[in-house]
Amino acid sequence: MSNSGCIKCDQCLPCAADIHISKVITFIDELKKIDINDKSQIDKILSDSELSKEMKNAENCRRCYKCNRLCPNKIDVPLEITFNLSAYKKFIKENRP
Ligand code: SF4
Ligand code: SF4
Repeated sequence: MSNSGCIKCDQCLPCAADIHISKVITFIDELKKIDINDKSQIDKILSDSELSKEMKNAENCRRCYKCNRLCPNKIDVPLEITFNLSAYKKFIKENRP
């Protein structure tokens, strides 16, 4: 299970803002799996255009809380989006060439 508790079941979809919720809120977990001394792993995240697109779209969360009501694990999705977006931006800022 992820840090957020997300099991990627996607029962929270569709999102009102078309956010791929499970992908966004498991970014921190994915980051924990990589070797920060391995440049190729860092570069893979930096060049992941799909991830970049999803993270950018996550800024559009309307905080309608529809997802929270549907999540079997009672995850506070908008809060997790905020955490993961912040981690993503920090990662990009620190690693962008
Ligand atoms: S709270 Fe945000 S992530 Fe959840 S359904 Fe609404 S717009 Fe989508
Ligand atoms: S419903 Fe909950 S556990 Fe399932 S993908 Fe959405 S946030 Fe993750």
